[in-house]
Amino acid sequence: MRLTIIGCGDAFGAGGSLHTSFHVRSSASTFLIDCGASTLIGMRRLGLRPSDIDTVFVSHLHGDHFGGLPWLLLDAQFASKRTRPLIVTGPKGIEARFVKAAEALYPGSTTAEGFKFTFVEYEERMPLEVGGVTVTPFEVKHPSGAPPYALRFAIDGKVVAFTGDTGWVDTLNEVARGADLFISECFQYDVTIPIHLDYKTIDANYEKLGAKRTLLTHMGKVMLSKAGNVDKSRYLIAHDGMTLDL
Ligand SMILES: [Zn+2]
Ligand SMILES: [Zn+2]
Repeated sequence: MRLTIIGCGDAFGAGGSLHTSFHVRSSASTFLIDCGASTLIGMRRLGLRPSDIDTVFVSHLHGDHFGGLPWLLLDAQFASKRTRPLIVTGPKGIEARFVKAAEALYPGSTTAEGFKFTFVEYEERMPLEVGGVTVTPFEVKHPSGAPPYALRFAIDGKVVAFTGDTGWVDTLNEVARGADLFISECFQYDVTIPIHLDYKTIDANYEKLGAKRTLLTHMGKVMLSKAGNVDKSRYLIAHDGMTLDL
């Protein structure tokens, strides 16, 4: 399986990074984990075809994580001329939030036909199988108008876990345990806030998290300026366009 980072930025464009989106090509399917507003642009930069995407797994309903869906829909209708179904999974209410956003940006865009576009909602800790990929959602702490989730994926015999955006919750130890790759948001460096993680908290919990590899992403301005202090024996630091083979 190959994971490509389309975007690893925060909501504020720190460091010029694109909004969050990870592209995964596995034997069973090709999918996105989150689809921030700049995702289609990022895919074009990297030569990744939007029509290859089978599923988009959304962690939570903030624009830097699901705001790219309206452009994916536009591409499907007018550029890629998609005919294969596209499935989007996310928190309860995702379809209504998507329709509101897409209709505000491109009126009439959500009524177009030509391919099946469906939404599947998460149930807390209920494994969901879509296109040969199993995802288990764990509710975390990050106000976004709908329950926010950390996601644990079982793909090709490997485990990829993602915090989404969240303040520290002990649930993350269950999410990350034994994961072949744990993708952790790391918005702050040493300032602890209730709705985002910081490097010092992640590192203090490193043993309890117990992942095989940890990738830090979603870094804010201050965190980026402190990236030189990160323990490289423990962490990989994300950048747009980075690929990881698992
Ligand atoms: Zn975010
Ligand atoms: Zn967020």
